[in-house]
Amino acid sequence: MAKRVGVLALQGDYLAHMKALAAAGAVGVEVRTAGEMESVEGLIIPGGESTTMLKILNLMDLKEAFVGFGRQRPVFGTCAGAILMASSVTNPEQECFGLMDIGVERNAYGRQLDSRVATIIPERDFRRRSGADRMEAVFIRAPIIRSVGPEVKILARYDNDPVLVEQGRHLVATFHPELTSDTRIHELFLAKI
Ligand code: GLN
Repeated sequence: MAKRVGVLALQGDYLAHMKALAAAGAVGVEVRTAGEMESVEGLIIPGGESTTMLKILNLMDLKEAFVGFGRQRPVFGTCAGAILMASSVTNPEQECFGLMDIGVERNAYGRQLDSRVATIIPERDFRRRSGADRMEAVFIRAPIIRSVGPEVKILARYDNDPVLVEQGRHLVATFHPELTSDTRIHELFLAKI
């Protein structure tokens, strides 16, 4: 049976993740309430604007449900989603939920990499798992992962910085895998469910 995967649909490019999930053979579910969150086996936090997402999570009283979800089930954060899952955020500092032991700096590529398609290099283990020795990645006002804790595994880098990392059941990408036709990163997340 196809896996039911939630996409937090408060703000940002959640529709692109819904399409990517379908292309990867899963059933995407738009999540806007704690009840909808309860009904899915994994959750994607899309790219968008992390500050706005935080405000809406507060308004909708969804923070506790989200943290509780992350204690038990897999979460995949892309770009703004990665910022929400981090354990520290700078430029400027803002609240985050510590699902991943990473420190991120927002909008850190500046003009150099404001928004562009770049080639990222999978690390050896992920190269073996995915069969890819390079991948296209869309960066849009992306954060940089400045620090990773001992439990965090780096799966791919761009310009030597980690851009795809995992920690146990959770996965984070600083780019937008939902905006390319390559489904391998969504499949990597589905394998955690
Ligand atoms: N710059 C955004 C933020 O700080 C993230 C951009 C994105 O998700 N593409 O929240």
